[in-house]
Amino acid sequence: ENKEQKFVYDFTEGNRDLKDLLGGKGANLAEMTNLGLPVPPGFTITTEACKVYLDSGTEPGALRDEVSAHLDALEKKMGKKLGQADDPLLVSVRSGAKFSMPGMMDTVLNIGLSDASVAGLAQQAGDERFAWDSYRRLIQMFGKTVLDVDGELFEDAIDAAKAAKKVKTDIELDAADLKKLVKAFKKIVKAEAGREFPEDPREQMDLAIKAVFDSWNTERAILYRRQERIPGDLGTAVNVCSMVFGNLGPDSGTGVAFTRDPASGHQGVYGDYLQNAQGEDVVAGIRNTVPLADLEKIDKKSYDELMQIMETLETHYKDLCDIEFTIERGTLWMLQTRVGKRTAGAAFRIATQLVDQGLIDEAEALQRVNGAQLAQLMFPRFDDKAATELLGRGIAASPGAAVGKAVFDSYTAVKWSRSGEKVILIRRETNPDDLNGMIAAEGILTSRGGKTSHAAVVARGMGKTCVCGAEEIEVDTKRRRLTVGDVVVEEGDTVSIDGSSGKVYLGEVPVVPSPVVEYFEGRMHAGADDADELVGAVHRVMAYADRVRRLRVRANADNAEDAARARRFGAQGIGLCRTEHMFLGERRELVESLILADTDEEREAALAELLPLQKKDFVELFEAMDGLPVTVRLLDPPLHEFLPDITELSVRVALAESRKDANENDLRLLQAVHRLHEQNPMLGLRGVRLGLVIPGLFTMQVRAIAEAAAERRAAKADPRAEIMIPLVGTVQELELVRDEAEQVIAEVQAATGSDLGLALGTMIELPRAALTAGQIAEAAEFFSFGTNDLTQTVWGFSRDDVEASFFTAYLEKGIFGVSPFETIDKDGVGKLVRDAVTAGRETRPDLKLGVCGEHGGDPESVHFFHEVGLDYVSCSPFRIPVARLEAGRAAA
Ligand code: ADP
Ligand code: MG
Ligand code: MG
Repeated sequence: ENKEQKFVYDFTEGNRDLKDLLGGKGANLAEMTNLGLPVPPGFTITTEACKVYLDSGTEPGALRDEVSAHLDALEKKMGKKLGQADDPLLVSVRSGAKFSMPGMMDTVLNIGLSDASVAGLAQQAGDERFAWDSYRRLIQMFGKTVLDVDGELFEDAIDAAKAAKKVKTDIELDAADLKKLVKAFKKIVKAEAGREFPEDPREQMDLAIKAVFDSWNTERAILYRRQERIPGDLGTAVNVCSMVFGNLGPDSGTGVAFTRDPASGHQGVYGDYLQNAQGEDVVAGIRNTVPLADLEKIDKKSYDELMQIMETLETHYKDLCDIEFTIERGTLWMLQTRVGKRTAGAAFRIATQLVDQGLIDEAEALQRVNGAQLAQLMFPRFDDKAATELLGRGIAASPGAAVGKAVFDSYTAVKWSRSGEKVILIRRETNPDDLNGMIAAEGILTSRGGKTSHAAVVARGMGKTCVCGAEEIEVDTKRRRLTVGDVVVEEGDTVSIDGSSGKVYLGEVPVVPSPVVEYFEGRMHAGADDADELVGAVHRVMAYADRVRRLRVRANADNAEDAARARRFGAQGIGLCRTEHMFLGERRELVESLILADTDEEREAALAELLPLQKKDFVELFEAMDGLPVTVRLLDPPLHEFLPDITELSVRVALAESRKDANENDLRLLQAVHRLHEQNPMLGLRGVRLGLVIPGLFTMQVRAIAEAAAERRAAKADPRAEIMIPLVGTVQELELVRDEAEQVIAEVQAATGSDLGLALGTMIELPRAALTAGQIAEAAEFFSFGTNDLTQTVWGFSRDDVEASFFTAYLEKGIFGVSPFETIDKDGVGKLVRDAVTAGRETRPDLKLGVCGEHGGDPESVHFFHEVGLDYVSCSPFRIPVARLEAGRAAA
C-alpha cells in the first residue's frame, strides 16, 4: 500500500479513460459531470482500494479518512448532512467494475434514512408516503444485499400488506401501510441477520461499501468472469452518489434509454419510462412502463432536455450510448451512461452510420466491429417469424442453428444418425464418453456448464452448434426426456437450438440462409429493405478492411468448387490444397495397389494410373484460381489411412478363413495393414518421409502439377502453382525431394517448351523446422506455417484426443484461457513462428511467408500473424471474410 495513493475521486476529478481505476460506471459519471450534464454529485472509491481489501482482508488505512473528507465536501455542496434528522442527505452506494458484470452486488439506495431522519425527509418533501416508501426500500435493499437476508421474505411481506388492503400495486399502499411495513422489515432483518438494522447513517454507508467489495468474489461473479474471460484480480470500484427521487409523485419517475436502437442501429427514441418510481422498478417489471416517446406528453421540458443530452452523449462518445435517468419533480438527472451493447448486425450498421454522420473515420469504424460478429452474421439462422415455442435459454456456446430429434445418450445419437435421422444430443453435461454422440449430432444441448464446459469446448472445436447451461431445462437421462415446467420433451420429439442466441425451441424452426452469405455468394446486393441494409453495411466495412490490410487472405481448398466459392468470398489464392482428398473414393483401389505393390513395375503401373487423374484435378483447380497462387501440398497423411480399418478387416478375413474362402487380396491387405500399423501415426511415416521412402510418389504428383500448369499455359491462361513439401524437419529432406522435383519440372518444361514458374517450398510444422528455418530457407522459396501440427508437436498434444479429454479441466484451472488449437499460443508456438520468420528472411529476403493452420481464420491469431510480418493467412472458405476483416482491423 502506497502512502501517496489516492483512493477516492470526486465525480469532478475523474474521466472516461479511468475505467481501470474508477470502473465503467464511475468513469462515465465523472465524464458526464465534466460535460456539464446534470449528475447528482458524489464520489468514487477506486478499484485499488478494493484490491487492497481483497488481498489483505481490511480496507486500506487511509480510506476511512479519505471517504470522510469527500463526504464532508459532498455535505457542504448539498447543504445538508448524511442522515441529518430535519433534512437528511441520502446517498446510493453502487458497485461498478471495469466491465459490467451481472452477479455483482445490487445498488443500495436511500442510505442515510433512519427512524430519526424519516420524518425530516417527509417534512422536506411535503410527502409522508414518499419518505416511508424510501425507508422501506432502504431496509429491503440493505437487508438483502448487505446483510444477506433472503429477498423473498421482504417480497412476501409486501404481498401480505397488499393482500390485507386488497390492493394490487405498491403505489396503493399509503404512508401508514408503509410505516407498518418498515416495522415488519426490521423484524425480518433482526431475525434473519441476527442484528438490528443499523440506524447510524455512516455505519450504513461503510457496511454497504464493504459489501460491494465482497461482492467481487460471489460465486456468480466468479463464474461470470470465468465464462467471459475477465481477469479475476481487477476488483470493483464503489460509487457514492447523492440521491435524487423518482418516487415523489406523478411529476417524477425513472427510465432507461438508448441513443439509437441496439438491434437495428436506427436513430430514434428508444427506451422505457415509469412514473413515480425509483431505481430498478423499471426493469423489475413491477408496474407497466410506458415507451420513452410518451414522456414528451408527460413532461415536455424534461423530454426535450433528455433528447438534447442524448445527442450530446452520442457526439461526445461517437457511439451508441445507453442511459439511466431519473426525473425528480420536473428536474432531469443523469444516473448512468455507457457505450451500449448491440447485436452483431447493429454493430456493422452503426459503424457505417457514424461514418456517414462524420463522427468517426473508416479506421475507427473497423474497430467498432469484429470477426466474431461477422462470423455470427454468416451462420444460417432461424426464421424468427416462424419460431415455435421457446423452451428455454442457455449460453450461446457454439454458433449455428440446429434442428433434430431429441436424444439423451450418445449410443442413440449414433444409431439414429446412421439411419439418416438428424438428432440433437441432450445431456445434463457431456464427458469424453459422449464424443461419438456429439460427432453424430446436429447440435448439442446441455443444462449445466458454461463456455468452458466439455460440451462447449468440444463443440467449438468441431464447429458444431451448441447451447450449454440451459438451467431451466431438467434433463432426465433415465427416462429419456427433458422437462421445463409442465412441458415434457420425449426422446424423438423435434427441438431446435440456436447456438448464436442460446435459445432452445420445441419443434422445428425453419432455417433461412444468412443474407450476408447470400451477399458474399453474389446472390444479393445492398438495397432498401432491412436485410439489404445490413448487407450494405457489411459491404462497406469489408471495403474499408480490404483497403488497409497488408495481409493477403487465401483459402484452404482442394477442389474447383471450393476454390470458386473461396474466390467469391475474396480469397487471393489457395494457401493449402490437400492432395490426400484426391486419393479417396474410387481411386482408393489404385492407392491400395500402390501400397501393395511388390515390384517396381506394379508400383509404377499404379502411379501411372493415378497421374492423369491428379492432373485433371489440378487443371480444374488452376482454372478456378486463374491468375492467383495455388499452393499444392504433396501427400501428407500416413498410408494406413487409405487402407481398411484394421479391426474390420481382421474380422472379415477371420470369418472368410473359417468358411475357407479367404480372398487373396484381403490377405495381402491385412498384411499391409499390419506392416503399416504405427503406435503414433501422427509422428510416423507421413509427409516428406513418404516421399523419400516410396519411390515415384512425389515425382508423380509433381509431374501432375507441372503438366496441368503446362496445359493451362497452352490454353493462354495464367496458372501459378506452388509445390509444398509437408513435415520437413531438416533441410536435407527438402533438398532430396527438391532435386527430384526440379528434374521432373525440367522434363515437362522441355517437353512443352514453356517456363512454368513453379515455386518450391515447405511447411514449417515441426519444432526442428522452425529452429533451423535459416537453413531450410536455402532450399525453400516459401514457408507455410502449419500451426495445427506445430501446436501438436510443440505442446506434445494430440489434437484428436486432448480436446475431448482434459482441455475442459485445463480451461477451468485457467492453464489457458482458450484452446491453443483455436487461438495461437503466442508465447510458445508463436515464438517459434516469429523466430523462424526472422531466420528465414535472413537467408532469403524475398521468402514468401504464410500460415495454413486453423489459426489462419481465427481473429486473435490473424492479428498476431500481421504483427510478425507474414505475407498471407490461409483458412477455410467460410472464414475468409472474417480473416479479411481482422487483417484490416490489425492494420488500421
Ligand atoms: P446497475 O449497475 O445494476 O445498473 P446502478 O448503480 O446503476 O445499478 O443503480 C440502479 C438504479 O438505481 C439506477 O438506474 C437508478 O435508477 C437508481 N439509482 C442509483 N443511484 C441513484 C441515485 N443517486 N439517485 C436516484 N436513483 C439512483
Ligand atoms: Mg445502472
Ligand atoms: Mg500438418
